[in-house]
Amino acid sequence: ATPIALLVGTGRGAQLGILIRGPEVLESTRAADTVVLDKTGTVTTGRMSLTDVIAAPGVDRAELLRLAGALEDASEHPVARAIARAAGDVLPEPESFQNLPGAGVAGVVDGHAVVVGRRAMLADWALTLDGVLDAEASRLEAEGRTTVVVAWDGAVRGILAVADGVKPTSPAAIAQLRDLGLEPVLLTGDNEAVARRVAAEVGIDRVIAQVLPAGKVAVVRELQAEGRSVAMVGDGVNDAAALAQSDLGLAMGTGTDAAIEASDLTLVRGDLRSAGDAIRLSRSTLRTIR
Ligand code: ADP
Ligand code: MG
Repeated sequence: ATPIALLVGTGRGAQLGILIRGPEVLESTRAADTVVLDKTGTVTTGRMSLTDVIAAPGVDRAELLRLAGALEDASEHPVARAIARAAGDVLPEPESFQNLPGAGVAGVVDGHAVVVGRRAMLADWALTLDGVLDAEASRLEAEGRTTVVVAWDGAVRGILAVADGVKPTSPAAIAQLRDLGLEPVLLTGDNEAVARRVAAEVGIDRVIAQVLPAGKVAVVRELQAEGRSVAMVGDGVNDAAALAQSDLGLAMGTGTDAAIEASDLTLVRGDLRSAGDAIRLSRSTLRTIR
């Protein structure tokens, strides 16, 4: 066992854009047999754009986008970025603002109590979606778009849809992880239809969708309870706890500080192919020092 081999491994890692927290991490790369992948920003680009604005009868589309955009302007979430960008530069300053992780945003804009968030949360907010808008949302989701509901003063006022694409390197990255003996699992807070579509595009069979941030940790624990050794790749604040819980946490270097701090390895370039490179390199470094 020579510390030299370890240095070579980590030096090579730096060249490949992989930062390793410490030598003890290498051991976890050997056992890993499952890799949980966050969707938005990890498998997909995370650069979403607004695709649809559907206003309820009597609601002005521009007003819908303006009130939603004013709140989303204060959020870092990829869905929020897309909506705020499309809403334009001149937006009212919210009188109050609350971030609801994995769900949306809420606050007061121009005297209206506004919420923007996932359809699955409507019941929690004592809101209902009428049949026409509900059908529209389902149609958009079947097309692979992420929909969010906009409501103010106690009624749903419309739906916004956003979409992003898979990173061009994701299919090859996932094939490489399979070759290394890891079964990929796609984990997301997004809706099932979008998740299935992304999974099919990149070659993942197992999908766990509509998971709240706290639920992501539970999913990792359940996989571990099945006797699996779980690697996880993520980028968001919402992934931090699950990354910390996993046997091997890998953070996208392009992601949030919270995800990076919770992880064992950082993929500096935000290229998912570095995940397989990191595991392969760590395993071969382990062989060298034995
Ligand atoms: P992922 O696991 O794909 O990174 P998240 O857990 O961060 O997704 O978010 C799950 C879902 O919650 C999003 O797909 C979106 O529908 C909704 N959501 C989260 N944050 C916001 C926000 N700021 N505005 C609107 N919707 C949001
Ligand atoms: Mg993400």
